[in-house]
Amino acid sequence: MQRFFNFFLIVCAMSLMTADGAPTNSTAESVDWLITGRYVVTMDRTHRVIPDGAIALRGNQIVGVGPHGELAAHFNAKHVLNKPDAILTPGLIDTHTHAPMSLFRGIADDMRLEDWLHNFIFPAESRNVTAEFVRWGTRLACLEMLQSGITTYTDMYYFEEEEAETAKAAGMRGVLGQSVIGLPAPDYKTWNEAIEGTEAFIKRYEHDELITPAIAPHAIYTTPDEALVAAHKLAVKYNVPLLIHLAETERERDDAIRTRNSSPTQVLDKLGILHGRVLAAHAIWESDEDLALLKSHGTGVAHCPSSNTKLASGVARVSQMLKLGIPVGLGTDGFAGSNDTADLLAEMNLAAKLQKVFTRDPTALSAEQVMDMATAGGARALGLEKEIGSLEVGKRADILAISLKRANAHPLYNVYSFLAYAVKAGDVEDVFINGRQVVADRKVLTLNAPEIYKKAEEYRQQIVNSLAKQ
Ligand SMILES: [Zn+2]
Repeated sequence: MQRFFNFFLIVCAMSLMTADGAPTNSTAESVDWLITGRYVVTMDRTHRVIPDGAIALRGNQIVGVGPHGELAAHFNAKHVLNKPDAILTPGLIDTHTHAPMSLFRGIADDMRLEDWLHNFIFPAESRNVTAEFVRWGTRLACLEMLQSGITTYTDMYYFEEEEAETAKAAGMRGVLGQSVIGLPAPDYKTWNEAIEGTEAFIKRYEHDELITPAIAPHAIYTTPDEALVAAHKLAVKYNVPLLIHLAETERERDDAIRTRNSSPTQVLDKLGILHGRVLAAHAIWESDEDLALLKSHGTGVAHCPSSNTKLASGVARVSQMLKLGIPVGLGTDGFAGSNDTADLLAEMNLAAKLQKVFTRDPTALSAEQVMDMATAGGARALGLEKEIGSLEVGKRADILAISLKRANAHPLYNVYSFLAYAVKAGDVEDVFINGRQVVADRKVLTLNAPEIYKKAEEYRQQIVNSLAKQ
């Protein structure tokens, strides 16, 4: 009898274990995942940091954030990921990039934006960019973004439907802007066709869980006013983001003042385009008056420090923007010429340092502020703050586990100091997007890396050949 009773206890105990061997509590609420970490850096409104913390996920949502002990008692998890040597943070949000351009990485460096665009990028694009090119470029970009902890990226390119399908298959979240430009583009020969195509694209993805469709008029110096106004009308009709390069170079600002008697920001304001969900990339050459316009319209800014330094475009007045309450996120502006990697942790580091040297004030743009820009601030700039950007109940489960095992994490006085100044992209160990694990122990689960590298080399040869035929 005693033996039978022992056996009964063992069976009961086994039935209270999950597949991962974690004990369960029969009165507890069931969830899909319980992820634990040495610290949970929530980036919520109070910037709560929870030592020995945990996050519970059900479906694509966060349903619990708090001390590990409390959550373990409250939830029965199907899967448990214990990361005692890691920090859990929200997924990083890249507010400005051109993902398929990854296949042009290293094509031309160390030159002016105008030379780079007109002598290399525009010819290389017109001879090589197809739907197939966009698929492979997006795969390469998503692989790199996932490896470095970017869970949402904001794109301005061509063939955005191809990009949307590819990004979804990789499990990425994307704010994807179909380009509208006053030159014949690889996908649409006129801006009118681009506007029509964008409307179909928006309708197809407007309720998608991972993709936020957007419209992306390139800039005031490449896109006619009529096209800018038509793009804006469409953005307002569907309440989608309008993405645009703005006041990136001194020349753009000077030309606008000379020919139109207005700064680039004033040009947009006079055309009525700042109204709505607008995200301005770069926003470097902005006067006090311009910043007041951005503030009054709630325009978001994508600050791209690597691109702005590599192209010698200038330094955006980020401290002033934040003081005014303008929502500012960080952008990599990858992958060719302007910045060669998709590493938002490196952008945090550079953003903080650049603002300090620019203002000659070491207190400018703190470690905590740049972490906010890479997460919650980026979400605000995109108008997605209800869905992403922080680890809070009800938000989408976009989560990173960042390793504390390597030398650069010792000793650990302050989590924000580590995240802004000491971390490296290779420290990102696990990534969840929309409740799905897409990176496990630094392995990207959703993409075939060797196949992508092989294809990238094939494209390199093709692109070199195409440029030789000038
Ligand atoms: Zn750009």
